[in-house]
Amino acid sequence: MNLILLGAPGAGKGTQAEVICDRLSIPAISTGNIIREALRNETELGLKAKKFIDEGALVPDEVVIGIIQERLKEDDCKNGFILDGFPRTVPQAEALDKMGVNIDRVIDIEVADEKICARLSGRRVCKSCSASYHTMYKPSKDGVTCDKCGGELICRKDDHPDTVLERLKVYHEQTEPLISFYKSRGKLVVVEGQEEVEDTTRLTLKAIEE
Ligand code: AMP
Repeated sequence: MNLILLGAPGAGKGTQAEVICDRLSIPAISTGNIIREALRNETELGLKAKKFIDEGALVPDEVVIGIIQERLKEDDCKNGFILDGFPRTVPQAEALDKMGVNIDRVIDIEVADEKICARLSGRRVCKSCSASYHTMYKPSKDGVTCDKCGGELICRKDDHPDTVLERLKVYHEQTEPLISFYKSRGKLVVVEGQEEVEDTTRLTLKAIEE
């Protein structure tokens, strides 16, 4: 199954992508994680992307389209994949069409902006493996290190309040049009993000199993 997870930054796409990945044994592909890894490794891509990420802006379409095009050629995508954070603009969605990628379902996780702001301020990510936690909703066992790899948990620079507001603005302007793009193609399923992660997960799994 080829899936897209749509939703504002902080709507919980990453967490739901991990759950679906376990359930369906297909890879979760996060353009955000790929770009952050490139930043850490100071690759050419990382250097190109840095100023956009720091400002809460989107990395240019041709850069992320190139990343996805290469990633989808890998063997582990043969039986399907979950795209988390791609596409984020209409030209990116059109690029998937041009690549001949058939999308089975698009799950749009909807969460109000005020909740997003509160959530992102408590988000922590593992510096080593990028696993995502939250100080209130999904704390790691000891609150400071990653349950999976023992890495240090940090607050992402782009989760700071001013950058979050900019990212939400960018989301409404550039990514939200994808909701009608996929709705008109009959691919869209809306999942209302719940207070408890487990409740959102239940709805997401229902959306892929129906
Ligand atoms: P995320 O972790 O998905 O919120 O992504 C973090 C940042 O990476 C975003 O704020 C963008 O700067 C960049 N990014 C990730 N995915 C995309 C995309 N599909 N198009 C453009 N920029 C992206």
